[in-house]
Amino acid sequence: MIDDARIDVIVQQVMAELRQGERVRHGPQPELPVIIHPPAPSAPLRHGDNLFPDVDSAVAAANQAYRQLYDMPLSVLERMVSHIRRVSRENAQLLAHEAWQETGMGRYEDKIEKNLLNANKAAGTEILKPTSWTGDDGLTLVEYAPYGVIGSIIPSTNATSTVICNTIGMVAAGNAVIFNAHPGAKACSNHAVQLMNEAIVEAGGPANLVCAISKPTIETAQQIMRHPGVKLLTVTGGEGVVREAMKSGKRAICAGPGNPPVVVDETADLDQAGRGIVRGASFDNNIICTDEKEVFAVASIADELKRQMCRHGAIEIDNQQLNGLMKSIFKQIPPPGTPGLMNIAFIGKNASVLLKEIGIEVGDEIRLVLAEVERDHPLVWTEQMMPIIPLVRVSNADEGIDLAKEAERGFRHTAVMYSKNLDNLSRMARVIECSIFVKNGPSFAGVGYGGEGFCSFTIASPTGEGITNPISFSRIRRCVLKDHFRIV
Ligand code: NAD
Repeated sequence: MIDDARIDVIVQQVMAELRQGERVRHGPQPELPVIIHPPAPSAPLRHGDNLFPDVDSAVAAANQAYRQLYDMPLSVLERMVSHIRRVSRENAQLLAHEAWQETGMGRYEDKIEKNLLNANKAAGTEILKPTSWTGDDGLTLVEYAPYGVIGSIIPSTNATSTVICNTIGMVAAGNAVIFNAHPGAKACSNHAVQLMNEAIVEAGGPANLVCAISKPTIETAQQIMRHPGVKLLTVTGGEGVVREAMKSGKRAICAGPGNPPVVVDETADLDQAGRGIVRGASFDNNIICTDEKEVFAVASIADELKRQMCRHGAIEIDNQQLNGLMKSIFKQIPPPGTPGLMNIAFIGKNASVLLKEIGIEVGDEIRLVLAEVERDHPLVWTEQMMPIIPLVRVSNADEGIDLAKEAERGFRHTAVMYSKNLDNLSRMARVIECSIFVKNGPSFAGVGYGGEGFCSFTIASPTGEGITNPISFSRIRRCVLKDHFRIV
């Protein structure tokens, strides 16, 4: 049993390392303790500033800010991005707590990590490298230009971390942004937008370069989609919002749902796989789109894999217990082999809350419920967004890969494989066709958490931008000087 003082010491260490980017470089080493301590009291949420009552006034203000920025030196833009990162780090804990309290989903300590990860590792201006060609015919220059005002529709599940990564990426490319939060997460998301605005103003940038709708709804999201002053859309959410954005007639960067499968073959390091699956599938209680959602394990190692998962914080339930739990966690249990609608009351809740439904009392150190099922079990086909993971036994890696492809349901979002067999890894990489494919690590390594590369929580698979960054939010413009300026 860890006492409160010890927890505080560990959390402070982790936070200090994250602030310096250390944990991000080396990956998540120690198991995080369960912490429920609230941060220092929040500054009262001010209304006004960069929150607008309607879409027209938000677009007008954002457009004015965009025009002001266009005339400012690049150094201001770079300073803005570095202030946004600092303010996001300083408020990572506060925003995590607000999101956790308001949405009732996920784990507070994981939300802190999500905020810090995006503050530290979302790509900034450094990624926008101009290209040039010179020759007998002169000089041609290609640069990344802003779109103008971007409409960004954001989810409840990453309510503050999406504000951080989208602000960094969109502002680094010189754009203004109007955020439309999920109605169930508007206070924390809008507070994050206010903090981004403050950081920009502090850095000498224009007020309202990022702004938000004070009382966002689905209707205001749709008004943003249709507004002539909004030049680019970025939507992060489920199938409904993606469908709506694609009908808008505008270019839309669509970050839709996923159902990330994991394949584990007989050559895998099972300790690594067991630990990685539990860490990945339970990260923020499975509400992140990249989190592992089902496992296909080769039969010869399935028992040992389950043992390893339980050693690393999972608890296995049997078929009868699962049948009892299904009545609670599904709104309506769908037919075999099809996805269903989950019961919102259990989305993002701790494993202990799920287990209580079937009379099992555990502490919050249990991160994940594990259930072995047949391949057509609805949990395999549903994006469950709660810490329960189905495991299906397969006879070999090929069968696992083929089933993973089916269970991923064509989202082309994220997939994971644990194997030491290069042929198997290569086959899955080609077959699965996902924006993110992680080998021998948790899915979150694919967004730079304990893996190399930049981060974003807006991962656009339907429209193909993948892990979004300032290039995704840029127009590519070419300028040609005929016959001159070659210097050799
Ligand atoms: P959601 O689809 O319910 O809501 C997302 C946003 O879209 C909200 O702001 C909501 O108000 C808006 N919205 C929903 N339907 C709309 C419509 N018809 N017209 C206009 N706006 C609409 O999603 P959620 O529950 O907040 O988030 C979870 C879902 O988002 C999961 O499916 C998850 O996989 C996905 N997600 C994907 C990514 C990614 O990067 N690909 C990141 C986070 C979440």
